[in-house]
Amino acid sequence: MTKNGVPPRGISRRNMLAATGSAAAGWMLLQDAVGAENPAIQVADRASSIRITAFKTYPVGNKTLLKIETNQKVSGWGEISQLPPTVVGPLMQSMYEMLDGENPTRIEHLWQKLYRAHRDFRGGAFMLHTIAGIDMALWDITGKLHGVPVYRLLGGPTREKIRVYPTPKAYKVPAGGPKPASASPRDIEGYIQNIKAARERVGKDGAVMFDAHCCLPPPFLIQLANAIESYDVLWIEEPAVPGNIEVFKRIKQAVKVPIATGERDRTIWDVIPYLQERCVDIIQHDCAHGGGITQMKKVAVLAETYFVPLAPHSVASFLGIAASFHVTASIPLFLIHEFYVNDCAGTLHKSWEVDKNGDSSLPQGPGLGVEVDEAALAKMPPSKFKWPGGKNPDGSVADY
Ligand SMILES: [Mg+2]
Repeated sequence: MTKNGVPPRGISRRNMLAATGSAAAGWMLLQDAVGAENPAIQVADRASSIRITAFKTYPVGNKTLLKIETNQKVSGWGEISQLPPTVVGPLMQSMYEMLDGENPTRIEHLWQKLYRAHRDFRGGAFMLHTIAGIDMALWDITGKLHGVPVYRLLGGPTREKIRVYPTPKAYKVPAGGPKPASASPRDIEGYIQNIKAARERVGKDGAVMFDAHCCLPPPFLIQLANAIESYDVLWIEEPAVPGNIEVFKRIKQAVKVPIATGERDRTIWDVIPYLQERCVDIIQHDCAHGGGITQMKKVAVLAETYFVPLAPHSVASFLGIAASFHVTASIPLFLIHEFYVNDCAGTLHKSWEVDKNGDSSLPQGPGLGVEVDEAALAKMPPSKFKWPGGKNPDGSVADY
């Protein structure tokens, strides 16, 4: 009917009203209210003409930093976490075929395009870690384009600070390696002493967590969980390997300490069974493992419907942490965020600070709020990657 909401020349207001009835009459009244020459109607959306033109990857240790460039002097950064760098470069090169020339602000569309590109390897860790890095870079570009922190685009801040661990007031006791199927009294006693010492250190207002790391067999774990009840442990983490719902249900029925998991459950489809079966109390989604900001926000919404908070897992650099912080800043149900200082050998500069209480400020500035020293990144030595491989004392393969 009209171009940019302006009536075609030669059609009078009276004729148009007569021809098109009450809907058009409403439109006319609106035009009268805002002015027929409202410049806002004529302004092109700045985000509509931006296009992806190139990408670069920089391996640093077991991470690969990813830069996505555009035709508008705005670029974005993300992190592809944990994958062998020898794999990330060629995989990213191959997937770039689906990004070249695309509008980087169509983040949901591009997430779907990448995730559902090939029916035979939809999802999976290698694809999702790579999509996570791309997704972070797209949000970084979009935030910079609009001149706002990413959390503003996710609905705005729901909190002013983000509680993090480890700090002097929040400590997670580690599992310390694979354990045999039957625990000795000394094994159990060792964990109890570590948890007791952690509680004494953080005080009554602090938080103690225990990371089972999928390596304590269920009978061992149940025995231990019942023995540590009096130390008010905030959660037992990863009591079983991902997706093993029947084991989770068995542990949940036998243990009073809250159960947390999720660092290797990557999508809404992985997370929903835990929620439906009510066998976890806390979801530990990892933004860098699970498809980035786009998927993390959806996981948080899903968990919200069951009144389950997120305690995001992270072993990422400042880039991956920033991405996770932006989601955390925008969701309603949150407990505590894992945070280790990793500036990728001095190449990343963060925009937040952790105070003496263990609370982090929100990232500042447009996009993710991380400055990258690209010149220094380009001079980094070749990356080393080693497959970890868990082993039992008898040499057999163990989960860890
Ligand atoms: Mg863990």
